[in-house]
Amino acid sequence: MMEEVKDKDKFSGWYLKILEDAGLIDSRYPVKGMVVYKGWGLFIIRQMQRHLEKLLEEAGHEPVLFPVLIPDDILGKETKHIAGFEEQVFWVTHAGANELERRLALRPTSETAIYETFRLWIRSHQDLPLKIHQSCAVYRYETKHTRPLIRGREFLWNEGHSAHIDDEDAMRNIEEIKEIYGKLIRDILCIPFIVSRRPEWDRFPGATDTFAFDTIMPNDKTLQIATIHNLGQNFSRAFEITYEDEKGEHKYVHQTSYGPSFGRLLAALVSIHGDEKGLVLPPEISPIQCIIVPLFFKGTDKERIQRYAEDVGKKLNEAGIRNHIDSRDERPGNKFYYWEMKGVPLRIEVGPRDMERNELTVVRRDTGKRSQLKFDRVSEIPKIFDEITENLRKTAQKRFDQRFFKIGSMEELSKNSGRGILSLGWCGNDECAEKIERYVDILSVNNDRGTCIVCGRDGKEVNAANTY
Ligand SMILES: [Zn+2]
Repeated sequence: MMEEVKDKDKFSGWYLKILEDAGLIDSRYPVKGMVVYKGWGLFIIRQMQRHLEKLLEEAGHEPVLFPVLIPDDILGKETKHIAGFEEQVFWVTHAGANELERRLALRPTSETAIYETFRLWIRSHQDLPLKIHQSCAVYRYETKHTRPLIRGREFLWNEGHSAHIDDEDAMRNIEEIKEIYGKLIRDILCIPFIVSRRPEWDRFPGATDTFAFDTIMPNDKTLQIATIHNLGQNFSRAFEITYEDEKGEHKYVHQTSYGPSFGRLLAALVSIHGDEKGLVLPPEISPIQCIIVPLFFKGTDKERIQRYAEDVGKKLNEAGIRNHIDSRDERPGNKFYYWEMKGVPLRIEVGPRDMERNELTVVRRDTGKRSQLKFDRVSEIPKIFDEITENLRKTAQKRFDQRFFKIGSMEELSKNSGRGILSLGWCGNDECAEKIERYVDILSVNNDRGTCIVCGRDGKEVNAANTY
């Protein structure tokens, strides 16, 4: 069914076209790497945001919004952090014609801005754990090839930050965030993923550990959609964030930070569920969940059918289902194509026969299956939504599970690189890693049971893939 889209060579073109055709974004904005979010795309992003913020706040996070500008001395306080971001920072150096005394960075991420304030907020062990989150845009001067929603110079995300009395509590928070992100990504967006503990060289600058959520795109490249970092005491030492424990001793807090990219989640959603007709959206996040198309045939009473369609719309409103009646003067077939392309989960056709029988014709976007539904059973539609969600989740998971391969030699690696996520042996040596990374990026080091495919020594089993 999806062969055309899943064709690696055609995927990239399909992706760029559907973003524009479906009205998700406009990528013609005259600053490279920055896009305009349009109604259909922004609605989906806001739905994700609403779900995520609710989950975070239920888990004890307080919403905040920090300024976009960070003074350069504060951005530079944690040395590894600034070294990692230095090349990507946009600087504000002037106010009008006057040069600023202190240049200001557009936040590439907010650890430094927020921790400068955590220092003031945290006094005693009773202030801990402190957990906050914000949804905002961040700015990075990406030098790699930019791609809408996947790699941009401005992107939308939610970032969470926490401070704890010890490492154990910080680790507990990391596990809780893994669950929260899992709920958003797998349960609501139906996107399959693995969580990888990144190798040392691929950690977030300033972190002691980074866990990343990776999914697989139709071209078999992995896309990192969220990360969680254990910051240890690196930032609390740099920013002097201490608390007084029960004995009156001052101690540095332990910290974590984390964020999913809304743009990348949207990119994954579009690519993983989409097909040759366009988007396929999970009902929970679709701007319109049911599109009602009145069928005006020759000789039918247009007004009566329109009224019947409006009755259906009212009934859907009562059931809390987002709906729209497409009464445009267009052929029904054109309307069908249009709403299928936009990914609306359910189409309701109402024609003369449906009206006579007090029924509706219901067509699923994911399977194309048609069925009849009695007018007074409209309230059962959420059940169909659950079936659609379940089907999208299972279909995507099945395809994902088929893209894991075991690799036993360099020859096999050269033949299979770019096929998904490869599991292979690596001895831990830099030279061997370099040879492996000519073909693939190492995503994670899993365990100590592997034979290096380069030199044959005992080593570790690693996951590797071509990455975005
Ligand atoms: Zn080796």
